[in-house]
Amino acid sequence: PKIAMGQWFTERARRDGGRQALTFEGRTWTYAEMLADIDRLAGALRAGGIEPGTRVGYLGFNHPMFFVALFACSKIGAIFVPLNFRLAGPEFEYIINDAGVHTLLVDTDHIAVIDSVRDRLHCQRYLCAHGQPADPARWPGAAEAMAAATPVSEAHQPHQDDVAVIMYTSGTTGRPKGAMLTVGNFWWNHVNELVMLDMRPDDVLLTFAPVFHIGALNVLTLTNFLKGAHMVLHRGFDPGLALRDIAAYRVTTIFAVPAMLLFISQHPDFASADTSTVRTVMCGGAPCPEPLLHLLDQRGILVQQGYGLTETAAMATALSSEWATAKIGSVGVSPLLTDVCIMTADGQKVTEPHARGEVCVRGMNVTRGYWNQPEATRNAIDTEHWFRTGDVGYFDEQGFYYICDRVKDMIITGGENVYPAEVESVLFGHPAVAEVAVIGVPDAQWGEAVVAVVALKPGSQLTLDDLRDFATERLARYKVPKQMRLVDALPRNPTGKVLKYKLRET
Ligand code: ATP
Repeated sequence: PKIAMGQWFTERARRDGGRQALTFEGRTWTYAEMLADIDRLAGALRAGGIEPGTRVGYLGFNHPMFFVALFACSKIGAIFVPLNFRLAGPEFEYIINDAGVHTLLVDTDHIAVIDSVRDRLHCQRYLCAHGQPADPARWPGAAEAMAAATPVSEAHQPHQDDVAVIMYTSGTTGRPKGAMLTVGNFWWNHVNELVMLDMRPDDVLLTFAPVFHIGALNVLTLTNFLKGAHMVLHRGFDPGLALRDIAAYRVTTIFAVPAMLLFISQHPDFASADTSTVRTVMCGGAPCPEPLLHLLDQRGILVQQGYGLTETAAMATALSSEWATAKIGSVGVSPLLTDVCIMTADGQKVTEPHARGEVCVRGMNVTRGYWNQPEATRNAIDTEHWFRTGDVGYFDEQGFYYICDRVKDMIITGGENVYPAEVESVLFGHPAVAEVAVIGVPDAQWGEAVVAVVALKPGSQLTLDDLRDFATERLARYKVPKQMRLVDALPRNPTGKVLKYKLRET
């Protein structure tokens, strides 16, 4: 079966070559034009020594070449390794050498950081992904290599357990681990989405989250191509541009992390922007404060929540559109082809609704494990193939899941468990609060103390005492932050997640 991306994209482009596939900064590629680029890059990579299983790295801001490289790798059976562009030189060095990247494609914005560690990398070939490199002898252009290549027209036929992508977890919790995502993992995620979500061939998807991350890459995005639909791609996230392009391209679907929805909702153009064509915003990647969901709902923007991890090749649960307003705050049900359960610390399955435990996921979309890390793999996946997510959650009487927080972010204060996401949601409900993060810090009396770090909206007069009163009216005493700190903005990773370890350090 043609389940590998390189295979189905080829088929799609042969059938519907004239359809619009991708628009980027005013230029549009049809499926046929994209396939021509994919086939040429596949030829250039193969000519440079890439065989099935060889790793090809990509480092750059969102750009059509990212997708061309991803599909080209699949076309020749190579393993694609997308890199998080916010990392520093030594972090790139670790990941690129850990993955054993043979050929590295880098955009002009990131050549300098790679050059700073290049003599310690074990890559055999470097290509400038697009644009004009300052030193073409050191960084030959992919465009020239593609022009000289013999295009690959027949796609490699992989086994569904072959690794397609190694995606390093974003490292909010320590040293990055390379999750091996197979051909089958991607395929079954597509099938789950096609079954669970309302995706249509005439959709116009707007993608502004970074596509090196599983959410932006594989929630909607790749399945959108499988449907033959159109994607408008942004180099990065700019709320004003997002609002403009929603109206300009009559966007119907969007993937966003909560922080992005927050910044869009706080943008001065938000009130007047035409967002009436948007059918669905899929929101996931981090806990979404309920007041934000209500705010967008009042504006007529339907937000469907989904929950997932790199290791589940995106979707582990999702809320279908019929339920989005009825079950605000839930991340939905398990996809038809994936099992989800709640487990106690000693590995027993929870059968009672509302009882909290660790969320575990099992199915064809779940990773085979971590590259080069058999021990980490054994710790994460048990003998019955349950993948332990590290998140605390529960289900209700109808089987809808709720994510409370990460096991490691849970605060134990005076023997009571406090889930930061719950406290954050309450504080965020204050109209003067722009952003908030709640963490636990060591405390001699309580074990851990609840601390809130808050950024206020510009011009706000709110005092921390007022905010504490607001929290005291709405939360059990032990959940009310013992300390509050004001900051201008929260430290976030490129996918919008708050870097809580940085807050704890400060
Ligand atoms: P690391 O694994 O290094 O900590 P990371 O957590 O950012 O990095 P990802 O795979 O990008 O790795 O994110 C998965 C995590 O994101 C989940 O384990 C969960 O904590 C959080 N998450 C995802 N979707 C949701 C959601 N809808 N609600 C709450 N949390 C979510």
